[in-house]
Amino acid sequence: MRLGVPRGLFYYDYKKFITLLFEDTETELVWGEENSDDILSAGSRFVVDEACFPTKLFAGQAASLLEKCDAVLIPRLMKDFSGRWLCPKLLGIPEMLWELPCQDKLFITDPLYFDDSRRLKKSLWELCRKTGMDRKKFSMNFSKAYKYQNDMISGVVHQHVEAAWEFAPAPPAEGEIILPNTFRILLAGHCYNVYDKYANGEIMKKLDALGIGTVTERDAGHKEREKSVAELSLIKTPFWESMVRILGTAMCLKNQIDGIIYLSSFSCGPDAFIIELLKEHIKEIPVMVLKLDEHKGEAGYETRLEAFADLLEHRRSV
Ligand code: SF4
Repeated sequence: MRLGVPRGLFYYDYKKFITLLFEDTETELVWGEENSDDILSAGSRFVVDEACFPTKLFAGQAASLLEKCDAVLIPRLMKDFSGRWLCPKLLGIPEMLWELPCQDKLFITDPLYFDDSRRLKKSLWELCRKTGMDRKKFSMNFSKAYKYQNDMISGVVHQHVEAAWEFAPAPPAEGEIILPNTFRILLAGHCYNVYDKYANGEIMKKLDALGIGTVTERDAGHKEREKSVAELSLIKTPFWESMVRILGTAMCLKNQIDGIIYLSSFSCGPDAFIIELLKEHIKEIPVMVLKLDEHKGEAGYETRLEAFADLLEHRRSV
């Protein structure tokens, strides 16, 4: 069976997990291609206008894979290892896709709770049995995949090397001289904004050209993030996983960086809260918010990056 896996939303955190789950089985995984204008316009046709930008890209990915695969994987992710909820739009992604054609080819999983291995295993078995996987093989692969994901979260496997290697900038061409970056900033936001070159307009490359290097949430440990958010003594315990992940990363790294650029999705509910918290708790360094949406204003975008680079220069010179 050819099982399509959309390149969006869960892809950046769970690619290796999915690879291990289907390793040495009859299922051939077909990864979605890089996002593009075509994928975005296909996705925009199938979801409501008010949907966030990453959801539209995800719908376009699923539509494109439906044409080439026997089935397309649509996970219903509920909680990650921390036991916190994912955003409501991620929980309801299968419902968001109800207008896609060939609904019988969408392999929608049962709810997935990564903080409960027995429940997770049961849900994933329901998925894998549909692909014809043998029960014994499933148990072996599940154990391997779950251990990997757990090790990655707890820092036993280095996240940066193991999970983000494919998103690193291309190596220099022969003879090309790379100057050390003058500044270092945190590129904050949901992983599908930070690592998707199409969604963020190749921001890492643009910043690099301005002498600004980037770090991401993969440069802060899970435990350290949790600890630094706990130390803020917020009035309400953070509800969403992304809140701790993004705010915690910023708190952990703020003394090692010159600024923060937050890549925010148009129409994202959690971002509205996270940005306010960032502004409240990060006073030492500049924070700039860039809204990502389908109406890409390249010129305005680049001007803002240049202005941010000027601001960093100015701060250093005074
Ligand atoms: S967290 Fe924001 S960007 Fe991500 S799926 Fe939810 S609404 Fe969309």
